[in-house]
Amino acid sequence: MHGEHAMKIAFIGLGNMGGGMAANLVKAGHEVHAFDLSPEALARAQESGCAAFTKVGEAVQGVDAVVTMLPNGGIVRSVYTDEVIGKAPTGALFIDCSTIDLETARAVAALAHEAGYEMVDAPVSGGIAAANGGTLTFMVGGSDAVFERARAVLEPMAKAVIHAGEIGAGQVAKMCNNMLLAIHMIGTCEALALAEKAGLDPQKFYEISSKSTGYCWSLNDYTPAPGVGAASPADNDYAGGFASALMLKDLRLAMAGAGTAGASVPMGEHATRIYETFVEAGNGGKDFGAIFQTL
Ligand code: NAD
Repeated sequence: MHGEHAMKIAFIGLGNMGGGMAANLVKAGHEVHAFDLSPEALARAQESGCAAFTKVGEAVQGVDAVVTMLPNGGIVRSVYTDEVIGKAPTGALFIDCSTIDLETARAVAALAHEAGYEMVDAPVSGGIAAANGGTLTFMVGGSDAVFERARAVLEPMAKAVIHAGEIGAGQVAKMCNNMLLAIHMIGTCEALALAEKAGLDPQKFYEISSKSTGYCWSLNDYTPAPGVGAASPADNDYAGGFASALMLKDLRLAMAGAGTAGASVPMGEHATRIYETFVEAGNGGKDFGAIFQTL
């Protein structure tokens, strides 16, 4: 497939996630035009075979697709409205892989559409290792036809590319998934701590519950107690993994989305408060399983 369906792709935002993703597009034979505000990130992208640009407007010239992997909705909105829309060729496909709020995702797609571009939201599940390894799960919001175009671009970076629904549906899937993850992680921590305090060996609890109705990813595959169950950042003082600050970001997006949708999310609200307190106490860099330490 090398070169056969080669495309010209602009990639904006080459941080922890975007750096590895852009490298996988290069490996698939695409010509990747990289832009990032950070000279270090841009230099790393160049080392992995991307062409480095110092202006977004130049990076998007003549491309088939623009992929963005940026920190938040405000930045996504300004990058598209100030520098991508009107400078990328009409008909280019825009793919925003950032995790952002639903309202911004829908608003930016509408602006792109008015200006003659197709756009999908395509947030990811999987961390930095999956970004580097090309094994991310993409949840994509957009029409059927646009989804097929996006799939061709996303495949070299993916383990799975799933069509979630219309524009915005990818962000909805992402916020619901991560709200659920936060809730079952906190519940897993509570159960492990309670088991131990009540006199049950936590390893025994793991062996029993991971085969009983309490089983879930947090318990079975990412056990948040040190030395218990599956290997996880807990075994390494909660270094690496999925930072609590990023979980808090995702929970806040879910709470904003719930507000817009008029959905009742009492456990989500409680989980948000728990991560807020934890992050504000200076633990934002620790893996999100470190909630175990607070119990
Ligand atoms: P990061 O901070 O490492 O990377 C973001 C990059 O964007 C940085 O290199 C920064 O310099 C660049 N940037 C900021 N403003 C810019 C602008 N105006 N123009 C161009 N570049 C700009 O963040 P990350 O960990 O790579 O996360 C990116 C996105 O992916 C976020 O939305 C995050 O929520 C989401 N996400 C992250 C993870 C994870 O495990 N890190 C997992 C899933 C999803």
